[in-house]
Amino acid sequence: MVANKDKKAFQLIKGMKDIMPADQKYWQHVRNIINKLAHQFNYQRIDTPIAEATKLFSRSVGDQTDIVEKEMYSFKDRGDNNISLRPEMTAGVVRAYIEHGMVNLPQPVKLFYLGPCFRYDKPQSGRQRQFWQVGWEAIGEGSPILDAQIINLGYKFFKDLSLNVVVQINSLGCQECRPVYYEVLLDFLKGKKNSLCDDCKRRVNKKPLRVLDCKEENCQEITADAPQQVDHLCDDCRDHFVATLEYLDELEIVYNLNPKIVRGLDYYNRTCFEYTSQDNEGTKLNALGGGGRYDGLVEELGGRPTPAVGLAIGLERTVRELRHQDVKVPDVEGYDIFVAQLGKEARKKCLNLYENLLANDVRVAESFTKDGLKPQLELADKLAVKYTLILGQKEMIDGTILVRDMEGGIQEVVDFNKVIPEIKKRLKTRLVEETPVQ
Ligand code: AMP
Repeated sequence: MVANKDKKAFQLIKGMKDIMPADQKYWQHVRNIINKLAHQFNYQRIDTPIAEATKLFSRSVGDQTDIVEKEMYSFKDRGDNNISLRPEMTAGVVRAYIEHGMVNLPQPVKLFYLGPCFRYDKPQSGRQRQFWQVGWEAIGEGSPILDAQIINLGYKFFKDLSLNVVVQINSLGCQECRPVYYEVLLDFLKGKKNSLCDDCKRRVNKKPLRVLDCKEENCQEITADAPQQVDHLCDDCRDHFVATLEYLDELEIVYNLNPKIVRGLDYYNRTCFEYTSQDNEGTKLNALGGGGRYDGLVEELGGRPTPAVGLAIGLERTVRELRHQDVKVPDVEGYDIFVAQLGKEARKKCLNLYENLLANDVRVAESFTKDGLKPQLELADKLAVKYTLILGQKEMIDGTILVRDMEGGIQEVVDFNKVIPEIKKRLKTRLVEETPVQ
């Protein structure tokens, strides 16, 4: 057998993170807001598998995008099928929409999701290889009011979290007007190719749009006065974009027309947008979330032509922003009562008392592995409970229990058989006293 000291402790896979107990109050707060918004806006939760056929992503996200080309966790399963861990969740949701015949439901079908995604990208601040996304998808309608409503949903998400964000918005046009714009853009980039970064040199012919959102300062300068898609929209796309902006004005949403928002996934058309923290200026943005219209995706994946619009937000970046902007979030629910015991027999009796308190919906804590009263009272203090119930040898003999008010330290002897109603009465009185008069 290998000696313990020779065994190397296992470590996290690079780019993946544990979400530790100290962070959970942020995550819980974010999840609460997600659920509240889903209910308010009538979105139903859908959970799709973490793994899907690789083809689903090459078809939807696009096989020449960075995500599919370099960032997917792909493997063959034991049945020789090509499988990938999802790099995003819209593709799976659209697959489910088609597979479960949701086209027959009243449209738009409004779905939301929450779960981990995987991208084998270079880990750095705000970029992990496993990260969580929440997303909302409205499938089945092409009206610009849905674009505005979905942008509003994400805006509300950040507002409810007390985070100040700006919506960066652009239009990517459609199959009619985008090729025309590509020609103009290629013309502009042609003479500048040698001055671009290596990535952009490759992108120019394959994905000229991506040159616009390159984060390299030099590339940004070169493309600062590049022609813009919004100046080359067809009439339908222009009307759609203008109507979307008018609805946003109506909703008093702060947005910034930003021609450099092009999104990295192939399926987007018309409206596309990102949310950036108000602290981040200019185009060197670390987007908190983004989305747009994807009117061709359902058909591309085998369904009927069906317009759709959606949005996804990264939860790690959201939690980081909550910490960065020093937002106070509610503590995870606390405890009102602590059960402390002294001696073997008392511990047994307390085990039962504890179960009874739980059954009476009392928020109760314990530390049955501790023997002395001091460490138990210290923990009770740390948990900020209102009362500690102490059962020692004397109380065991008398059939009583001590009720210690943790605020003043006053202890009273109470009949053991009456302690639960007594505690409930006291907690109720405290609640009334502590609730501010409106
Ligand atoms: P995307 O659709 O790629 O823009 O992703 C939507 C959101 O997911 C981003 O705005 C981020 O908040 C989050 N996100 C995307 N990729 C990562 C990553 N590698 N690590 C952490 N968060 C990410």
